[in-house]
Amino acid sequence: MSETSVIGLRRPKGLAARAALFTCVLLIVTAVLSAATVMFGALRESAHHQLNVTRGLAVHLSNISGDMLAAGDMQSLAVMAQQTAARTEVLRLAIYDGDGAVIVQSEGNAAESAVTLRVARRVLRESALSHERAAGGLAIGAPIVREGRVVGVALIMWDDMAYRFEALPALAPFLLILACLVLGGVPITAHFVRRAVAPLDTLSAFAERIAENGEAEPIDLRTGDEFETLATAFNKMIGRLNASMKQIQEIAFVDPVTRLPNHDRFVREVDYAIMQRGEQGAGAVAVFELQRLPKLLQTLDQDAARDFLRVVAERFVASTRTVDRVVRLRSKEQQQAMPARLSAAEFAVFVPEGVSQSDAARFGQHLNAALNQTFEWRGHKLTLGACCGVALAPRDGREAETVIRHARMAISAAQSSPARIKVFTQSLDREAVARVTLEREMRGALERNEFRAYFQPKINVATGKVEGCEALARWIRPDRTIISPGRFIPVAEESGLIGALSDAIMREACWKAAAWSRSGHPAKVAVNVSALQFRSDRFADQVLRVVQHAGLAPSQLELEITESVVMQDPDRALRVIHPLKEAGIRLAIDDFGCGHSSLATLSKLPFDVIKIDQQFIRALEKDANAAAIVEMILALSRTLNMEVVAEGVERREDMEFVASRGCHWVQGFLFGAAMPAAEFAQMLRRQAGDDIDAEDAEDAA
Ligand code: C2E
Ligand code: MG
Ligand code: MG
Repeated sequence: MSETSVIGLRRPKGLAARAALFTCVLLIVTAVLSAATVMFGALRESAHHQLNVTRGLAVHLSNISGDMLAAGDMQSLAVMAQQTAARTEVLRLAIYDGDGAVIVQSEGNAAESAVTLRVARRVLRESALSHERAAGGLAIGAPIVREGRVVGVALIMWDDMAYRFEALPALAPFLLILACLVLGGVPITAHFVRRAVAPLDTLSAFAERIAENGEAEPIDLRTGDEFETLATAFNKMIGRLNASMKQIQEIAFVDPVTRLPNHDRFVREVDYAIMQRGEQGAGAVAVFELQRLPKLLQTLDQDAARDFLRVVAERFVASTRTVDRVVRLRSKEQQQAMPARLSAAEFAVFVPEGVSQSDAARFGQHLNAALNQTFEWRGHKLTLGACCGVALAPRDGREAETVIRHARMAISAAQSSPARIKVFTQSLDREAVARVTLEREMRGALERNEFRAYFQPKINVATGKVEGCEALARWIRPDRTIISPGRFIPVAEESGLIGALSDAIMREACWKAAAWSRSGHPAKVAVNVSALQFRSDRFADQVLRVVQHAGLAPSQLELEITESVVMQDPDRALRVIHPLKEAGIRLAIDDFGCGHSSLATLSKLPFDVIKIDQQFIRALEKDANAAAIVEMILALSRTLNMEVVAEGVERREDMEFVASRGCHWVQGFLFGAAMPAAEFAQMLRRQAGDDIDAEDAEDAA
């Protein structure tokens, strides 16, 4: 079915049909009216003609009758009258004398004779022709004039049909032509009307296509009339509309800085792929969090920030293309992987068409490595700290939002993995739920002051005495169960509660240490610093304020910062610790040996203490390498003039080993686990040989 006929069907009372109908009706009405007019004229003409003919005949009869009357030839008159009356068209014939008396007459009925008599008398009276219509005939009388005098009347009544003009047969050709005109004219008119309104149909079809699809190819109408003007206007209008739509789509679906698809577009594409491929495996989503990016952008002006983001996006897109070819071995028919920018510091890539978990992981790994390579930009060397989470669709979600959420969840787990990439698993989801619950409980616990500092003794190897301690956070639940930091510190860091928590521990540690000093049993107190705390610009100020409030000598406080945090950004570490160092606070590198310290960096950082990670101490028993590592760390610290603490000492042999190699401090279950402040104070007093009972009450307070 053609386009126009479809439109025609949809528009049964279309303009063309209405125009054709109107023209046909007009034609028919015109034909009927003209036929009626002609017929009416013909009938009138017929009556006129009949009158003229009969009048002529009557005059002729009166002349003949007059001649015969003058000659007194009554016989001939009678014969003539008889012969004339015998004609079928003559209904009646009569000759009257000057007094109105019948001289001759044909046979007929009384009504006819009454009419003829009336007409005869009128002719005699008026001396002129006269006529009158009677039933079925026309009576006409003509005066018989002799020598200027009316001597009689010749009267004849003709049959109505006798000299009538036959209009119908005469008009037949005309009516035939008219009928042909009407019959031929209707389809021809319809055809021309249709042709005339055809451009309108094209315009209507165009308008309908736009209404249905929101777009259409431009129309080409070259009629040279208003239709063409209308078509040109339509094309211009749609051109503008398309441009606006494109602009709107760009605003809605394209990241303005990087020109990459944005979050909404990404979600649409993933949803579409899930809908299309379903169980066959829609693809994988890898989300990359650029953890240093927000801070970095803050230091740049707007133009520079946009420029740098574009550089990052270019590398991301180029790497995606390369990795797509290398990892997926993508053929030409396969859909390309789609890079996108999900939020300010989040890029993502959708790898379509059923990739395996291992391929997805490799995809993420390569891209993450590419993003983590230093950017050399405008003379700066910048690193982004990218972290990647991968989730598979529909395995990890039947909706794009769920898949993305799970990939983000995997990012949290990826922070602690060496390659900083993790593929989502269901256990991560369960962990996430448990984390959320824990986070909620922690908020309440912070308000109720359930987080307390416990103190693990540190022994000075030189004196063999407890001269210091490490403050370790404990969550003491109302039911007296104690939760260790391994469970709540990561959650506190993720939720941002670490700030409040660390403040509480730092405050308690400083106040307690100050109290011990005041009571004559000084002990250095070491407090752990989380990665998040260390990243805060206000960190040094906060520590100094707490120390001052507590009235603690700064040299009595030691801050433990893990090796990995220090080495992530040594320049920053140097900046942060500088004011603390100036104030006299001691600084320790915690869990040393696990990270990747470079000797050059280590020598530049003004740390006072190295804490050997407990895994090396524990391994001393079985692993000869561990002993070598411990010896090496001790030698290094001597060179750098740093004190060394051996953590996790549980066996006397280990204590003797580290002591013999020049270790300054030992800490571990061999000497005591972390204990409440009162217990630790008691330990200090006992060591000093003081009267323990006397001061117990003070500690309890
Ligand atoms: P860390 O700073 O390396 O603390 C030493 C950990 O080793 C403590 O675990 C301590 O109880 C444990 N430990 C000490 N001696 C021994 C031993 O002989 N054998 C064994 N097996 N373990 C020993 P804890 O208290 O569970 O703390 C774990 C980690 O949580 C700490 O490691 C520290 O990184 C973090 N942490 C603890 N409290 C705080 C805090 O207040 N703030 C921050 N930011 N982190 C904290
Ligand atoms: Mg520590
Ligand atoms: Mg440690």
